[in-house]
Amino acid sequence: MIIQVTVGCSHNQCTFCGTYKDQKFRLKDMALIKRDIDEMSSYRHEFTRAFLADGDVLILPNEQILEIIHYIKKKNPAIERVGVYGNTKAILKKTPQELSALKGAGLGIVYQGIESGNREVLRRIKKGAFPHKQLEAAEKIKAAGILLSQTVLLGIGGTELSEEHAIDTGKHLGDMSPHYAGALTVMLLPNTELYRDMREGRFVLPDKFGLLNELRLMVINMKVKSPCFFTSNHASNYLPIRARLPEDRHRVIALIDQVLKKRDERLLKPEHMRAL
Ligand code: SF4
Repeated sequence: MIIQVTVGCSHNQCTFCGTYKDQKFRLKDMALIKRDIDEMSSYRHEFTRAFLADGDVLILPNEQILEIIHYIKKKNPAIERVGVYGNTKAILKKTPQELSALKGAGLGIVYQGIESGNREVLRRIKKGAFPHKQLEAAEKIKAAGILLSQTVLLGIGGTELSEEHAIDTGKHLGDMSPHYAGALTVMLLPNTELYRDMREGRFVLPDKFGLLNELRLMVINMKVKSPCFFTSNHASNYLPIRARLPEDRHRVIALIDQVLKKRDERLLKPEHMRAL
């Protein structure tokens, strides 16, 4: 069950993201949210998971999030887990007590977009959070007993910062050791600043094998302290991978090495099958 709770994203500055560009961030009217929940709940009786959209619902005051979660669970007693996107600033604004209250109410997973572990890349893409703050936020979520799922972006450093981005991101993921980590490939969307940078020659996206090399460097450097389910099976990627780290590290690196050695594009996902 996906319930739209907010409109847009409170940050809305990342240079690669065009999702909410024309929307001013706001909470939807609570009566309307409840009406949506009523309607969704009438479609099916056995919803077990709910997701609160849009960009970063966690930025809302706790009372509002709790009211929404309680209402969803009242209407759908089978709900086992509620998820939200949480950007770093939103997570850091919550106290440990507030996060525990959300966990107690049913918030089971937070999706945190990291994009990179390289400070310069994060500055250039205007992520609004540097690695030490992302780490602090990750630790807060895990300390509250909430599952943490993080995403990073292959290619976001461009050819100029490709290796630094991949190595630092791998190390950063290792330091944070989320329960889930996903690598997506940056897609250049016409309504974004990054697209303009590309058009004007300030940003060059690595080629397919350059992106694969980033994936390899990330996995090599991702020394997790606790089990992590790592995927690159998002539609934007050229080579889908599903791995349990640390145990699958060598298998994944060997697979990527094989593809890099052959440099055969037929081993990669065809361009027309890639999408957001
Ligand atoms: S990437 Fe996430 S935080 Fe950045 S503008 Fe888009 S929705 Fe907001």
